[in-house]
Amino acid sequence: MKDLKGYILALDQGTTSSRAIVFDRSGSMLGSSQKEFTQYYPEPGWVEHDPEEIWESQLSVARQAIANAGIAASDVVSIGITNQRETIVLWDRDSGKPVYRAIVWQCRRSTSICEELIQSGLEGEFRSRTGLRLDPYFSGTKLTWLFRENVALRALAENGDLLFGTVDSWLLWKLTGRHVTDVTNASRTLMFNIHEMRWDPLLLSFLGVPASVLPEVLSSSDDFGTTKPELFGYPIPVNGVAGDQQAALFGHSCFKPGMAKNTYGTGCFCLLNTGTRPVESKNNLLTTVAWKIGNTVTYALEGSVFIAGAVIQWLRDEMKLIDSAPESEALARSVETSNGAVMVPAFVGLGTPYWDPEARGAILGITRGVNRAHIVRAALESIAFQSEDLLEAMSGDFGQGVQTLKADGGATANAFLMQFQADISGIPVVLPEIAEITALGAAYLAGLRCGYWESCEDIERNWRLKTRFDPDMSDKKRIMLLESWHKAVAATREYKQ
Ligand code: ADP
Repeated sequence: MKDLKGYILALDQGTTSSRAIVFDRSGSMLGSSQKEFTQYYPEPGWVEHDPEEIWESQLSVARQAIANAGIAASDVVSIGITNQRETIVLWDRDSGKPVYRAIVWQCRRSTSICEELIQSGLEGEFRSRTGLRLDPYFSGTKLTWLFRENVALRALAENGDLLFGTVDSWLLWKLTGRHVTDVTNASRTLMFNIHEMRWDPLLLSFLGVPASVLPEVLSSSDDFGTTKPELFGYPIPVNGVAGDQQAALFGHSCFKPGMAKNTYGTGCFCLLNTGTRPVESKNNLLTTVAWKIGNTVTYALEGSVFIAGAVIQWLRDEMKLIDSAPESEALARSVETSNGAVMVPAFVGLGTPYWDPEARGAILGITRGVNRAHIVRAALESIAFQSEDLLEAMSGDFGQGVQTLKADGGATANAFLMQFQADISGIPVVLPEIAEITALGAAYLAGLRCGYWESCEDIERNWRLKTRFDPDMSDKKRIMLLESWHKAVAATREYKQ
């Protein structure tokens, strides 16, 4: 099947924009397109999207990417989808119309429902079955909120008239007419048992969600249906689906246990492949499904840093210390050290492994000699320190350290940051030639199923190195810097308003 001609189309449905990219067999991009869509903030802490706008933007960029690649729809052998995770859509089975705006992963409206479940002593039950924490971030309690707020919707759901889906599922419904999802997206809902790999009736009863609303769960590389002919003028099979972070892990070819990637965007998302073993975390990491291919389920440990690249935006927009994000690199390099300054950017609390929602940011160790460059350097260093905390937590849980960190995301453009990460973690950090690693992961999952790529080894050959950063710091200095970072975190957490 190696001579299967054509290209793979990846749909990358993100939180702020919909994108589509056409890839060839070498993993190179032939054409792409991107469109932003509206963010709704109806109340403080609430975030919504319009599902129809998500769909329309996604369809239009898909068509445009095909046009930009200079190919015909009939040249697309398969479609892969990757998406913002945990965001929920609820729609009418007959009309296909959404019955409510999409409730976005960032939305905190179900905080009190989570607290209620925790107070009922159910956190352990959710954790052991789903690998997740009871946090409004995940889909399940968003659905509970919707059914409690709107009893009419609840009645319709119980009658079997409504369908629920994460964003992949909504797009698949529009593309192929099937009500399906994949294991990675299902594993982020608080309703999916990651050991038995099925919706969990007990958790559904705790959440008050009728099973009739749930999609069928397929593998990540599977037959998700064929696009309705009128959409692209040609029916195209959809063969790959994965949530964005899992797709990035796959796109980086982190196929073996012990391999990890870190995405440096607004926040950081770090995933470690733990193989066929779901590792229960003692360090506040999440256990999640990395992908399922054939009958084999691969699991991952996941940790996140809430404020990473965002601290650079803050320096630029709020503090006016820099004019642009790239300027931060030159400034950080203009000094030898942060001169004792340590920044803990806990603007919205601290993520893994601290999970301290009440913590707020601090800059410690300031003396008269600390200047703008030192503060900027301390901000960049804080991104690496926080990521190192994740890696350390992962090593502890997995029983073995990460050998090499594969990196992607906007802030990887900062070579100072990447070098500092390698130094502080004591491992090489590598950047791939292809920046669009998340979309590529979805393309790979699709292409594996339809025989465009024959095996993971086939795909691995496409991972071409762009830059490698080797650790170049003495252990003594590394340990000293980490010690002062941890002291600063402790002091920051101590302070509560
Ligand atoms: P997201 O997908 O979360 O929107 P991106 O992967 O597009 O994020 O990365 C954007 C983030 O990267 C921003 O927070 C920005 O501050 C940061 N960033 C971009 N370039 C640099 C740079 N040269 N140095 C440090 N941070 C950067």
